Amino acid sequence: MAKTENNSKKSGGRAFLYPKKVKGKLFTIRKWISYVLLLLLFVSPYVKLKGEQLVLLNFLERKFVFFGLIFTPQDFYLFALAMLIFILFIVCFTVVFGRLWCGWACPQTIFMEMVFRRIEYWIEGDANQQRKLDKQEWNAEKILKKGSKQLIFLLISFGIANTFLAYMMGADQLYQIIIEPISEHLVGFLSIWIFTLIFYGVFAYVREVVCTVICPYGRLQGVLLDNKSLIVAYDETRGEPRGHMQKSIDQPKKGDCIDCGLCVQVCPTGIDIRKGTQLECVNCTACIDACDEVMLKINRPQKLIGFYNHDFIKNRNPFKIGARAYGYGIVLFLVILVFSSLIYKREDVQTTVLRASGTLYQKRPDGSIANLYNAELINKTNKEIRFSFKSADKLDKIELIQADTVLRKEGTAHLTFFLVKQRKHITEFKTKVVFEVEANGKIISNSSTTFFSQP
Ligand code: SF4
Ligand code: SF4
Repeated sequence: MAKTENNSKKSGGRAFLYPKKVKGKLFTIRKWISYVLLLLLFVSPYVKLKGEQLVLLNFLERKFVFFGLIFTPQDFYLFALAMLIFILFIVCFTVVFGRLWCGWACPQTIFMEMVFRRIEYWIEGDANQQRKLDKQEWNAEKILKKGSKQLIFLLISFGIANTFLAYMMGADQLYQIIIEPISEHLVGFLSIWIFTLIFYGVFAYVREVVCTVICPYGRLQGVLLDNKSLIVAYDETRGEPRGHMQKSIDQPKKGDCIDCGLCVQVCPTGIDIRKGTQLECVNCTACIDACDEVMLKINRPQKLIGFYNHDFIKNRNPFKIGARAYGYGIVLFLVILVFSSLIYKREDVQTTVLRASGTLYQKRPDGSIANLYNAELINKTNKEIRFSFKSADKLDKIELIQADTVLRKEGTAHLTFFLVKQRKHITEFKTKVVFEVEANGKIISNSSTTFFSQP
């Protein structure tokens, strides 16, 4: 195997890969997409919208923020639906475009191929030079190159860990950990370093094993892909029988593949795409660029390796979206519809009114009937809200026993009160009653429950 350590293979250990530098049209596009995605990833936690960071995924406090929308523990169903949409989208995307996400948008591949690998090329050179450096004795050059590379890797991992924690705990809290004494934020301080070491380990050593062994999404490919899915594939009809270029015209004609091995040498997961679809292929398209360059040199049409589906490779059928993709698409559309309507109907303040346990109802000397209730109001915004609480039926009277009138940002308020109805307005034993929360002259939330009385 040209690009792996033979000794490691023979001893049964992991073969450390030395993918060759790749260049080409697709790599250039991928590079620019990566820059944009990296910029978004690093900037998002520090950008504020409506007083909240753009994206917050605080699993510990169960608070999630997406583009100004705050999801509290009470909105867990919305968060679960959002996750379902994300998974369905990935499934849909995979059924049509294969594992394109892995090679073009996954943070693991972007950091590995566009950041860490390029630093490695910059310091140690291309694949052959890296291999040579690894084999040579330790000397000043090797110490300097290896030392500086690992130090830069560690610093970048530190940056990634900080960004990761900015998403998880919030950029403001991360800032407090950085500027305040370590003793006040021991857990936060340790978290930064633990995640730094995890990221360093992943990008310096574990590398492609994340995609080929650890990532569950990669394992799902066998289930998700079908004959219509677009994948990075070798056009064997055109390429085979492979063989080196013929010098003599008397020798039998071979396929377009000249067996140069470049597609294998550039592969970051160390596979030979000519052996067919493999679980390890992350669709990074490096082999397409490498082969296109070869085809250009030997004056043959490009895209011997390209984005194809099995239907095209085997039967030359043009690309068509399959029924499975339409099925997933319809499900995705319906879930998005449900999610959007729930978001549209979602109130900034959630009100829950429950009857107080104990007496069913109270007869007053003036003939009116009173029921006792407890109410809880949850503020889902990051603004303080001054509110008033009332019955939707203007003929009813509310007697507050315990009353908050201010809802702190993301806080709760509790009320205990009697709802008093005049006997003449009661026609049933069980009557539906509605309560309204008003702020700045607008009804911002309501809740209904039952009122008991002898009619
Ligand atoms: S086979 Fe090609 S597309 Fe797949 S991982 Fe290797 S280089 Fe990338
Ligand atoms: S790069 Fe192209 S020509 Fe070279 S071995 Fe791979 S498929 Fe064949």
